[in-house]
Amino acid sequence: MRLLLIEDDDRIAGPLTEGLGRYGFSVDHVRTGAAGLAGTRPAPDLLLLDLGLPDMDGLDVCRSLRARSAVPIIMITARGEEADRIVGLELGADDYLAKPFGVRELIARIRAVTRRAGAPAWAAAGPAGSPGAGTSGPGAQVLGPLAVDRRTREVRLDGRPVALTPREFDLLAFLGEDPGAVHSRQQIMDTVWDPHFFGPTKTLDAHVAALRRKLGDPGWITTARGVGFRLTVPDPAGPGVRTGETAG
Ligand code: CA
Repeated sequence: MRLLLIEDDDRIAGPLTEGLGRYGFSVDHVRTGAAGLAGTRPAPDLLLLDLGLPDMDGLDVCRSLRARSAVPIIMITARGEEADRIVGLELGADDYLAKPFGVRELIARIRAVTRRAGAPAWAAAGPAGSPGAGTSGPGAQVLGPLAVDRRTREVRLDGRPVALTPREFDLLAFLGEDPGAVHSRQQIMDTVWDPHFFGPTKTLDAHVAALRRKLGDPGWITTARGVGFRLTVPDPAGPGVRTGETAG
């Protein structure tokens, strides 16, 4: 996934570019609104727009960009004024982050925004250079007998379609972005539900249970006690083997 970062402050742009790179994003960085409006080739999949730019108001950049493109825009602002953020959202920005923020928080926002926009956020799955899972055809990720097509939101197990609710699909797709990696409960709630999800997370356990049931083997999603969940391909040699783990 290709990002265009419009940010004049190298102390922010440097670590951000490096951090996003570690997660598999390629970042083009420009320092002025004019350069941002000039665009890059190839066109970015998402824009990260600082509102405090040296040559023009970031809100004007946002307005101009939105007038000619539907590319998702996440505003980055150091400004305390809530008004700027509201105006930015009204101008068509998809989300905003107030400095300071962590790379992981930004990635959660990127995923949420691109999911809403129907773009393949999964393309940025995993750390750069990780082998990842095989794919068959555009959009389909293959994990053993399981095929997850984020483009069509279809899931197949041994070639047969599996009917999932939208949230179950999002959960499966998110865990599948980095098979084997443990995702914390908060990370899952932030990404699959809402950023800054606050409240009981029992709904997560219910969705995990539903996915295990629909995939026909609880081994697909294992519990990392006290931490979260991970997606793994169950051992085909061990049908009926139970992990003994329970959700939660
Ligand atoms: Ca700035």
